[in-house]
Amino acid sequence: DPGLYLVATPIGSARDITLRALDVLNSADLLAAEDTRVMRHLMDIHGIPLRGRRILAYHDHNADRSRPALLAALAEGGSVAYASDAGTPLVADPGYRLARDAAEAGARVHAVPGPSAALAALSLSGLPSDKFLFAGFPPSTQAARASWLAEWGAVDATVILFESPRRVAQTLAALCEIDPDRIVVVARELTKKFEEVIRGTAAQLSQDSRMSVLKGEVVMVLDRPTPRAAGPDEVEAALRDRLGRMTV
Ligand code: SAM
Repeated sequence: DPGLYLVATPIGSARDITLRALDVLNSADLLAAEDTRVMRHLMDIHGIPLRGRRILAYHDHNADRSRPALLAALAEGGSVAYASDAGTPLVADPGYRLARDAAEAGARVHAVPGPSAALAALSLSGLPSDKFLFAGFPPSTQAARASWLAEWGAVDATVILFESPRRVAQTLAALCEIDPDRIVVVARELTKKFEEVIRGTAAQLSQDSRMSVLKGEVVMVLDRPTPRAAGPDEVEAALRDRLGRMTV
């Protein structure tokens, strides 16, 4: 069927690919990938032949140049399969403008769901998952990261963020300043050989020596903010408010 197919691919374990994703990679008229070698490798592993099809590169640095070719293939009624390097395309990955422009041009946009580092970490975290926020990567400078954490960390939901392994310790230290009792789950190398999941409070993990030598890919999941015990001023203000309302 014609349209743009956004194909989720493994985040580590090559067999984490859906049967439908393999069908789509096998049958699409045109293939596009954030890294063409990664897609070639994935297709090789699963025995999917190219059959003379091209794999077009579509990444942050050439998106504006390569989008017209993909949109032209869609306009001709073709099917285009797009995958990022790993996981669900468009989640902290390129592709959003492609999906937007394809939809605006009247093409059908299909999701081929599958692996997602954010959702894998959320599901194994053991933290409440009824309401969550995916906040992407924190800024890399210290001051910007502190205010970013203060903003997103105040949201009353479980917060999922991506972090470079080199900066996890700094992010934990910054979080510790805001909310030392908050439960944090550090999920590393999910679905891979050295998968590791470490849980603790921000205070505990910021003292944990493992955090400064982390390697590989990391997702951090933060519990919702720790409820703060009300101080005497707040109790008095709440009482005044209640009493005030009772007299009107
Ligand atoms: N679109 C991808 C997805 O849906 O999984 C995410 C792409 S983002 C550019 C890459 C980040 O995802 C990494 O820096 C890391 O935070 C996280 N990530 C990807 N694979 C991972 C894995 N196997 N284990 C832990 N985190 C992973």
